[in-house]
Amino acid sequence: MSDILGLLKPFEKVFLIGCGSCSTVCLTGGENQVKEMAKVLSGESSYKYEVEVEKEYVDEKGKTKKKKELETREAKCEDKHVVSGTIILDEPCDIRLDNKELPTAPGLADADAVLVMSCGVGMQTVYQSLIKAREGGKIPKLPKVFVSNDTHFIGQTERIGVFHEMCRGCGTCMLNETGGICPVVLCGKSLMNGPCGGMIDGKCEVKDYTMPCGWALLYERLKLLEKLEQYTDVNNPKDFALWYSTRDVNNR
Ligand code: SF4
Ligand code: SF4
Repeated sequence: MSDILGLLKPFEKVFLIGCGSCSTVCLTGGENQVKEMAKVLSGESSYKYEVEVEKEYVDEKGKTKKKKELETREAKCEDKHVVSGTIILDEPCDIRLDNKELPTAPGLADADAVLVMSCGVGMQTVYQSLIKAREGGKIPKLPKVFVSNDTHFIGQTERIGVFHEMCRGCGTCMLNETGGICPVVLCGKSLMNGPCGGMIDGKCEVKDYTMPCGWALLYERLKLLEKLEQYTDVNNPKDFALWYSTRDVNNR
């Protein structure tokens, strides 16, 4: 929550997008979580967060020692945003649904920022859809789009036909810093900083220049968002312990 409130701080009107599919069953972006987020952002409800504190304890030999523990605290959002609207999309990762429902969603046109409470795929798809809607004149301005979750992995869905990989579940999402373009997936070498020397005319040397360079896409996106200064920020290496350890979710 502290990260989310920090990202939304400059924006008064916020539109919330929930996911009626995976994020509903994962309890990270369903109807209840969207309602909860709306109350927190408007200052109606408090939110819980954890801080690391040092505590003293006496060990079995009677010696006083110190250990670090996580302590839960409560706070209220001081910025008091206006939630201009909310929508639960059946699947924010389905661009057809986003293109159909988002441009006319009540409250979206007023929003300065959009918070997508889905995985990294949903957020990227929403951003693409809103850019398309703006370019087609269907919405009056392009809001900044943020994602609320650190995606840990994308679960398997059985069926349908054509898919594009957009998130590799790295566990430490960087979409908020990269304008909604994921270099882990879209760069042929998953470079954290790019482009590498293999980029020619915006194409990647991996797959013989048949696919766009992810870092060229990222540059174009930041340029569109007037955030090009972020391009030279150095991204740290990923924490592979978070990425490659076996991961499960069980909310039952
Ligand atoms: S940065 Fe990580 S979590 Fe975010 S979209 Fe890319 S792979 Fe997914
Ligand atoms: S050319 Fe671009 S996408 Fe390809 S590996 Fe280099 S930086 Fe990544």
